[in-house]
Amino acid sequence: RRWGFTLAGELRAAEARDPHRIAIIDEHRGPITYRQLMRRAQRLATALGATRGVGPGVRVGLMCRNHAGLVEAMVACSLLGADAVLVNTALSAPQLAAVAEQQQLRLLLHDREFAPTAAAAACERLDESSVEALLAETPQQRRHEVNRAGRTIVLTSGTTGAPKGARRPTPKGFGPLVSIIDRIPLHVGERILISAPLFHTWGYAALQLALAMRATVVLQRRFEPTATVQAVDTHGCTALFAVPVMLQRLVEAGAVPARPPRITAVSGSALPGGLATLFMNAWGDCLYNLYGSTEASWASIATPADLRRDHRTAGRPPHGTRIAILDPTGRPVARGEIGEIHVGNEMLFEGYTRGPGDPSAADLRGGLLGTGDLGHLDADGLLHVDGRADDMVVSGGENVFPRPLEELLAQLPQVREVAVVGVPDAQYGQRLAAYLVLHPGQTLDADEVREYVRHYLARFSVPRDVHFLPELPRTATGKVIPRLLHPM
Ligand code: ATP
Repeated sequence: RRWGFTLAGELRAAEARDPHRIAIIDEHRGPITYRQLMRRAQRLATALGATRGVGPGVRVGLMCRNHAGLVEAMVACSLLGADAVLVNTALSAPQLAAVAEQQQLRLLLHDREFAPTAAAAACERLDESSVEALLAETPQQRRHEVNRAGRTIVLTSGTTGAPKGARRPTPKGFGPLVSIIDRIPLHVGERILISAPLFHTWGYAALQLALAMRATVVLQRRFEPTATVQAVDTHGCTALFAVPVMLQRLVEAGAVPARPPRITAVSGSALPGGLATLFMNAWGDCLYNLYGSTEASWASIATPADLRRDHRTAGRPPHGTRIAILDPTGRPVARGEIGEIHVGNEMLFEGYTRGPGDPSAADLRGGLLGTGDLGHLDADGLLHVDGRADDMVVSGGENVFPRPLEELLAQLPQVREVAVVGVPDAQYGQRLAAYLVLHPGQTLDADEVREYVRHYLARFSVPRDVHFLPELPRTATGKVIPRLLHPM
């Protein structure tokens, strides 16, 4: 494979083997074969190269929902050797302006609906109709050789601050990308509905994997439980790639396909307590929980059997990935003890991009990347993610993790969603605050909540503040944003 494992390289290899296989089913455009997808991407590459000077060293922002046009644009950038910066569609205008400047965007391709936000980016912008017009004007397509210079830059979710651009590597071989099949039984030619946003590291990795495995990718612009279930049935999807909050919506809506997929894989945030079991009881034993990050890619995977044993586990690393739980001095902790999760694999990011030129290299410790997450390995060697190191609350000298309290509160039948954070406290340094969203028509008061917690957890785990909210502030991938719960 002389062109390596770039997106364009994967697509060209798939096209050469299976030109008439359906690459994408886009609900607005219908089925698109591997050959058609490659041809559109070639034309777009020709147009962007000739009219906008896009090529190696140029960064192009892509701010789109999940649809075929986004995939074509990613492949066009990859063909030209340009960097594609995947932009979170939930960014506000000032956030986008900052990203455009920091990432030195030359051009931003965006869906029409994001035009008001896109206007804040100080670079040239093209919406879907301008792209179509450009394609119509492009006289002939040139066959581009795959240029390996380009990288995809994925923004972190911005849970803890401003999103950072993380440069994804071009995997050196097929191995790292498909290492996932060590734990998830994906086959060549699978029909995969990718509901996770393609701009997020999980959705993007899923797309890379799907093209490498000559799958048919089903894309919908928006996630909606009934429409998703319908798409699974209509297109005979054998796999669904989503984020945990989508599972929660599916379970709440009681939406179950007539033929559930063999594989439902989620990543991007922790599975809320009990959700794995509820989901598998409705959809069958098809759930896989992947732990990973924009920087580390996927690091460990829990299979349905792992989740039946313990619904909170993140499972085991796939082939070729190492996981170590280290103390602050870098020594491995004893089995069962909590430390920082470190990951080693061939898909670690190449560094944060903060401006022109090469990114600053990732900070590794003996080939391992610190994830900033705390976790432990249980007696069976299964990984448990206990929370982010920054989430730990130190209240009156006690270290408290929000996660067990969140899981306990989630078990209250009145509670729909819950988040627990530490807030500054004059006397104790920090105190625990619980934010609850109740099911419609339910009532609960703060004393009842505290009383309930007192039965199960130590005194210092009882939340002093209890707030009831109509909804929780979340990132585009459904992660709760602590700093928006309690502005410091
Ligand atoms: P920022 O770095 O901007 O704050 P972020 O870290 O939330 O954003 P991502 O890279 O999208 O951005 O998220 C990765 C993090 O999500 C992991 O470090 C971990 O905390 C959490 N996470 C992802 N998958 C899981 C999982 N299966 N179980 C528990 N936590 C998970």
